[in-house]
Amino acid sequence: MKRISVFGATGSVGQNTLDLIRRDRQKYHLVSLTGGQNLELLVRDALEFSPECVVTADEAMYHELKDCLQGSGIEVLAGRSGLIDAADRSAELAMSAIVGAAGLEPGLRAMQAGAHLALANKESMVAAGALMKKTALEKNVRLLPVDSEHSAVFQALRGEELSTVERVILTASGGAFRDWTLKEIATATPEQAATHPNWEMGKRITIDSASLFNKSLEVIEAKELFDLKPSQIEVLIHPQSMIHAIVGFCDGALMAHLGPPDMRHAIGFALNFPKRQNLPVKRLDLTEIGHFDFSEPDLDKYPALRLAFQVVELGGLSGALYNAAKEIALDAFICREIAFLDMAQIVERVLERNFSMSNKEVDQFSLENVLMMDQMGRIHAREEVAKLL
Ligand code: NDP
Repeated sequence: MKRISVFGATGSVGQNTLDLIRRDRQKYHLVSLTGGQNLELLVRDALEFSPECVVTADEAMYHELKDCLQGSGIEVLAGRSGLIDAADRSAELAMSAIVGAAGLEPGLRAMQAGAHLALANKESMVAAGALMKKTALEKNVRLLPVDSEHSAVFQALRGEELSTVERVILTASGGAFRDWTLKEIATATPEQAATHPNWEMGKRITIDSASLFNKSLEVIEAKELFDLKPSQIEVLIHPQSMIHAIVGFCDGALMAHLGPPDMRHAIGFALNFPKRQNLPVKRLDLTEIGHFDFSEPDLDKYPALRLAFQVVELGGLSGALYNAAKEIALDAFICREIAFLDMAQIVERVLERNFSMSNKEVDQFSLENVLMMDQMGRIHAREEVAKLL
């Protein structure tokens, strides 16, 4: 049996992961299941999958969770220490599906404990790509991309030399505001931003898809995962969300990865790696689809993308800063403190304020430095939000 832990089990990726595990139950032994505040779901899944331990990231919910699982024999933990304890347990594979920078430490610890990491939490690679790669190398474990675009690139690269890659094209649906004007977007509400035309995902990533902050994080993630230069990464708006990424090789060949917008493909690929296995995803009927559309993203409409390429050029710890500032700006937009377009402005100002500090050398890429930069980004972003109130 494969020993597996699922971090962020109560979220969209976590639930899709458990769906696949449920269909192949005899193959897996659940080590740790973690969630946040959705105790109802966490308890339901814990009772169904009987993991060795269950963690709520919210310490205040510890007693309630413990009461709910009384007599089940499942160990109950809470807070950051609980997440670390869960990550330190021996597992063959860990699904990193916590949202935000909070997913960084559990993912790192799981790799340090010897688990291959199925990586949905893109923020880990954005904030600490060098550290993640160094840890994977030292511990001889794999980073298996779960973001559909990066899984697509990873699959297109199987059996290929990285040195023969000319370019990588990441596709973006364009999110909720693809057909809106800049003037309309300026007054968009969180509810409008949280509606995705093609994918069903968590609220935060859905809003990030509307601003293209999600694609921006993916640009940085792609640079880290596949050691790309900024000039090798392109983004195209592809409204159908059927082609997830395209890899261009030095002989002019383009290898595209196609599939329905269903995360269970990328998750299933990571769970079963290096083998392929039947997955319960819809098979594409190309005659039904008929055609695919592509266009260049408008950088005035999606300033987050322009900033991401600056971060890719800057390197160092600028990714940690970018992500932290983005998370605070997103919180402020969700709470209606700032307007939709203010998010990118806040991130830009935070980057400008810390330009020299963020550009640290790779050997300074300790977890402490990353977390320090993350904190700095949050403090400065809150100050920028306050100026707009
Ligand atoms: P969700 O918001 O649906 O779920 C997030 C999970 O993290 C939940 O289990 C939540 O708990 C938990 N969580 C929230 N805050 C914390 C915290 N501070 N500490 C520990 N756990 C916490 O997110 P998604 O599933 O949409 O996304 C997860 C990750 O995967 C993100 O990094 C996202 O960018 C990435 N991703 C997601 C895709 C998708 O299709 N959804 C596609 C590709 C990548 P609770 O809900 O119980 O509070």
